[in-house]
Amino acid sequence: MGLECVSRGRALVFAMKLKFNGLFKTLACAAAFGCMSLSAASVAEAETLRVGTEATYAPFEFANADGSLTGFDVELIRAIGKEAGYDDVEVINMPFDGLIPAIMTSQIDTIIAAMTITEERAKRVDFSEPYYTSGLSVLILEENAAKYPNVNALKGQALCAQIGTTGAMTAEKLSPGKVKAFNTEPEAFMELKAKGCEGVVNDRPINLYFLSQSDASEGVTEINEILTAEKYGIAVRKGNTELLDKLNAGLKTLRDNGTYDQIYQKWFKLAPKD
Ligand code: GLN
Repeated sequence: MGLECVSRGRALVFAMKLKFNGLFKTLACAAAFGCMSLSAASVAEAETLRVGTEATYAPFEFANADGSLTGFDVELIRAIGKEAGYDDVEVINMPFDGLIPAIMTSQIDTIIAAMTITEERAKRVDFSEPYYTSGLSVLILEENAAKYPNVNALKGQALCAQIGTTGAMTAEKLSPGKVKAFNTEPEAFMELKAKGCEGVVNDRPINLYFLSQSDASEGVTEINEILTAEKYGIAVRKGNTELLDKLNAGLKTLRDNGTYDQIYQKWFKLAPKD
């Protein structure tokens, strides 16, 4: 539907009505240009893409000192949302194992959380095209490097991981019944340092970022072995093909126009901390 205005006076009448609906921008526009056609889009509610994430997972999603969220995923979904025509992209922080339930109950529209596309998850949500290739690795204390030259040597030892992640599942296979699972990865890292476990099983890019960027990684090292091949996807509610198509199209545009590469360079080509 379009609202056609036939005189300047009538444009102002529309404009005042719109102001009462809270759309002050449209008022300014109508008043300045007088007679014009107001498209459905200009009178529609501003559309917000509600995105769930778990924001303690640098460099993919984490909080700045002021509490605002940032990281590779956060910048990527903001850019995709813009491409897809959303007026706003709201990134909401929640526990990792609460993300899929939140999408199933429509509290959020989509998830970007360094989330691996797995068969199990794909029964409950639909995933976009993969946007990042990842895999698991294990962090140990430097002082144990000789004791654990490879992941096999860690079998049966106490391991730490984040609840509901592929890291936790793999840790459980290595050391059945001996996995301490935490809400966030930083808690798992701290437990390793406190010698509450012998290794942390986690996505490699996050492990590498922790080792190269965080002072808290002092005394920690990585076993040089990649355990799995995983791909991250952006999730939508099962059957929400309309949104999925928009996200895939946005992702493709950003890959084609160089924006994806820019964001990638920014977050994965960092100088080591020292
Ligand atoms: N990629 C892992 C998974 O999907 C970890 C994700 C995360 O902790 N944010 O399970």
